[in-house]
Amino acid sequence: MTCPSCGFTNVVRLQQVELEQEFICEGCLQTVQLKDADKSVAKAIDAIEDAMGGLGNMLRREFR
Ligand SMILES: [Zn+2]
Repeated sequence: MTCPSCGFTNVVRLQQVELEQEFICEGCLQTVQLKDADKSVAKAIDAIEDAMGGLGNMLRREFR
């Protein structure tokens, strides 16, 4: 997540973005409000969960 004030790239968890939490920028120590405006992170997490679910189904078929 790049800070809008100083451009420092902070490491944040995907879940923090999905929940739109605040975090402290390590570059300028300002509070930054995380925004997942188009819900792209939420979609990405859904996609990962779908992929994992699909893998689980595949394995279940494989070992039946
Ligand atoms: Zn900053």
